[in-house]
Amino acid sequence: MVAKFDLRKLPEANVPKKYILTEEEKANSKYGKLVFNFPQEENEVVAEGDPPDYVVHPQAYFRGARQIPGSEFNCSFQIFVKPFFLDRVQHRHPKDEYLIFLGANSTNVFDFDARIEFTLGKGEDAETYIIDRPTIIRVPAGMYHCPLHFKEVNKPVMFLAACMMPMFGGIYDMPDMTTRELYYNGPLPCKYDENKKCDACGKCLQETWEK
Ligand SMILES: [Zn+2]
Repeated sequence: MVAKFDLRKLPEANVPKKYILTEEEKANSKYGKLVFNFPQEENEVVAEGDPPDYVVHPQAYFRGARQIPGSEFNCSFQIFVKPFFLDRVQHRHPKDEYLIFLGANSTNVFDFDARIEFTLGKGEDAETYIIDRPTIIRVPAGMYHCPLHFKEVNKPVMFLAACMMPMFGGIYDMPDMTTRELYYNGPLPCKYDENKKCDACGKCLQETWEK
């Protein structure tokens, strides 16, 4: 016999204290570091000569451990409204990445009319997929991927790039045959010095949310 309890009613003793989402209130709470409000971001990574109006702005990004200490996840939330060659250079990540393509119609995410090309693998093993319907792609840790090209955008596309890493970054093969790890935390100020732009030094990655 399974004990029944009323899901609609919490026992009086368990009614938790309520917090509003100000920095002050969060600082006085135990779990406030786990709750982060999205800052508005303007696009700064646009190749020279490209118009920046291919996405709806301001944009929302979750920048991982920069924003929630100890997080092992970062994610973009972008709406593409025009064709754009987003990622031209092949790279790998130390952890899995998921790329999500949905329609941006708020009443039906399956309302999709775009043609996006995305390459998995490298050299002779490379395969290019044509994304013309709602799709999620897993890029396993270490797998080469890209280019990623939004070739036709007849209806707005909601695009999420979610990487299981505390900060967005990848491993790139340089033209001189060396490899380089590049990290990027967005156009945000340094967490410790508001007058300085984040240079992805990684100091904030050492923090834990408990302290
Ligand atoms: Zn990637």
